[in-house]
Amino acid sequence: MDAASYVSDNGNVEPRSALIFLGTGCSSAVPNAMCLIQPSDPPCQLCFQSMSIPPDRNPNYRCNTSLLIDYCGSDGEHKYILIDAGKTFREQVLRWFTFHKIPRVDSIVLTHEHADAVLGLDDIRFVLLLPQLDDVSDICIGVKFPYLVQKKLKAGQEVRRVAQLEWRIIENDSKKPFVASGLELVPLPVMHGEDYICLGFLFGDKYRVAYLSDISRFLPDTEHLISKNGGGQLDLLILDTLYKVTLYFWSFKGSHNVHFCLPQTLEALKKLCPKRALLIGMTHEFDHQKDNEFLTEWSRREGIPVQLAHDGLRVPVDL
Ligand SMILES: [Zn+2]
Ligand SMILES: [Zn+2]
Repeated sequence: MDAASYVSDNGNVEPRSALIFLGTGCSSAVPNAMCLIQPSDPPCQLCFQSMSIPPDRNPNYRCNTSLLIDYCGSDGEHKYILIDAGKTFREQVLRWFTFHKIPRVDSIVLTHEHADAVLGLDDIRFVLLLPQLDDVSDICIGVKFPYLVQKKLKAGQEVRRVAQLEWRIIENDSKKPFVASGLELVPLPVMHGEDYICLGFLFGDKYRVAYLSDISRFLPDTEHLISKNGGGQLDLLILDTLYKVTLYFWSFKGSHNVHFCLPQTLEALKKLCPKRALLIGMTHEFDHQKDNEFLTEWSRREGIPVQLAHDGLRVPVDL
């Protein structure tokens, strides 16, 4: 039997690696605070749900996008690779690390340095095994968190208990894969607004997964690499979708200027044709149950199963 699999109680062979969605919401997260402190008339039902349903039972409660890869290598050992640690990271750790029994983080991989991707980095001290992580990767975090990269103490400087990370820069180049805690990841540069390149990641030998949390437009190399007619069909595509409708006034091209909205997201799915897709990055416009009913219909029509992900979702995969 494959070392990365085990037989469960019902006799099925289940993969030992898993993807855990720590966050599936937009930058402001859901509920949107404004809907609660300055309620509209009628009030935003979706945000008001959060006042009565606890977050762990409310699929419409969404923290900043973040994925934890529970990677079980061929030696049977588990490594925990975190993609992004945004403003809501501490809350995500308290809720989902405990629920899914995640003991630590071994590597952090960052998509870009916006607040909803990195502002939780200060809190990684809770989940680190000292002295330091295997590796952390990103572009210009040193400006936001100089103490996380500072190595030598100056004369008279006190030793402080902050995380010290070993930094590696990921190049915006899909031909330059890197390894984090034993798992090879291929950078997938995409436009996140026309003046900004953000990274997504492609990983998994047996089960190919692409993660794209912040995208407004594909770059040709990235699109080719993860499309069925190009580099090969993905087993799972995790893709950005911010609003349900296209906000035409934000851009001449008929889309939001820095994120995909549902029409662009579905268009991309048809082009790339993955075996399965899960959507992330949603605002309070999306109702988990209702919109998943719509997506179930769409999936049936187009032959590509797609659903909204939700915080806490765990997807077993054989990477
Ligand atoms: Zn709302
Ligand atoms: Zn961003």
